[in-house]
Amino acid sequence: MVEFDGDIAIIGVGAMGSMAMWRCALRSQDVVGFDTTFPASDRTAVGGDTRLFRRAYQEGAGFTDLLADAQQLFHELNADTAGVFTQCGGLSIGTRGGEYMRSLEASIAASGADHTILDRDELINHYPQHALFDDDYGIFDPLAGVIRSDQAVLTAVQLAEQAGAVLIRNTRLISVASGPGHVDIASDDRRWRFRRVVVTGGAWSAALLPERLSAHLIAKRLPLTWFVAKEPERYSPERFPVFIRESHDRVLYGAPSIDNTAVKVAGMTAYGAVHPDQLSRDLSPIELERATRIVAELLPGLFPSPVRADAYPDQFTLDRVPLIGWIDEMPGVYVATGFSGGGFKMSPAVGEAIAQEVVGRHPVPSVAFARPARVRNVL
Ligand SMILES: Cc1cc2nc3c(=O)[nH]c(=O)nc-3n(C[C@H](O)[C@H](O)[C@H](O)COP(=O)(O)OP(=O)(O)OC[C@H]3O[C@@H](n4cnc5c(N)ncnc54)[C@H](O)[C@@H]3O)c2cc1C
Repeated sequence: MVEFDGDIAIIGVGAMGSMAMWRCALRSQDVVGFDTTFPASDRTAVGGDTRLFRRAYQEGAGFTDLLADAQQLFHELNADTAGVFTQCGGLSIGTRGGEYMRSLEASIAASGADHTILDRDELINHYPQHALFDDDYGIFDPLAGVIRSDQAVLTAVQLAEQAGAVLIRNTRLISVASGPGHVDIASDDRRWRFRRVVVTGGAWSAALLPERLSAHLIAKRLPLTWFVAKEPERYSPERFPVFIRESHDRVLYGAPSIDNTAVKVAGMTAYGAVHPDQLSRDLSPIELERATRIVAELLPGLFPSPVRADAYPDQFTLDRVPLIGWIDEMPGVYVATGFSGGGFKMSPAVGEAIAQEVVGRHPVPSVAFARPARVRNVL
């Protein structure tokens, strides 16, 4: 008789794995999460304090249902740990007729997302923190907000543990192998056997996946910078919504101050391909100079000198659509990875979809667009 170490193993307890642990633990008594380090480590895609949540989402109307479900679950996390999610609204600012604002408007038209269009004068009146070009206008998303990423992950893990799940820290899994009715996983010095395995290893996922999928993935380095506000109260969540901006060739996004001092501003520099274990946390002089120049120009209420800079890895797919679902050639193995720099906002809903599909074995329509089966073998 086959002996099992548990029902479901979750490899990687970051954004997706923590939420999957929480939602699976509500349905199965036998859930075990593994992480190379510990949940919410700042070496992962959880690092950097905050993440933007948006409902008016330029990336496409395909995400509409996931984002609605995620928002409800973020409110549930808030009920446990106040401050995980602050619904401060979100502002998109951009050149009239520019590509970003055009695709955002198209996505809003398709999804029906709540929004208000603000002309340049209205932007100046309501959000004077942003310096504008003559042809800028704005779109306000009232349901957008800011997520404390570390708190969200730690709260989800705590709820999972309260529901009976077990977390094994400081353990990097190096192999996943399907057998008849079971899946074997191994670290350097131990093996375990589970009925089903979920791979949520973020930027490190490729090493555990078949070549068909790993060839579709590329880990990237995402820099973040923080700037101190001259008048901090003007950059609190009540007065300064999360924002994304594409004005002419300036691209940036940011979050209000959560420590009453520093404002996170990012997106000004390119995301390079990287091995996540060799990622340089230091920003180059060119990266720092470009970030500072754009902040000085477009956010003049911030001191034009970063007080903190860091870089974090995330897993991208070649088509920028995540991989969520069973892996045909590895029976019993499910993957959720490749969130391409935008996954945090949907993470609780992805965790819920994983639980429904892996524990309940019910296909979830809101993740059908992201099936790994779409990726063909290139060899
Ligand atoms: C700088 C930055 C800014 C971002 N901004 C936003 C934003 O504003 N809004 C938004 O929605 N999204 C944003 N994102 C994207 C979002 O944070 C990621 O898409 C999301 O966190 C990815 O979740 P994940 O679970 O796939 O990976 P992670 O959260 O990185 O988790 C992976 C976990 O797996 C563990 N692991 C990996 N391999 C193994 C193994 N072999 N064995 C055991 N454990 C393993 C790691 O230690 C880690 O804990 C941002 C990402 C970055 C990097």
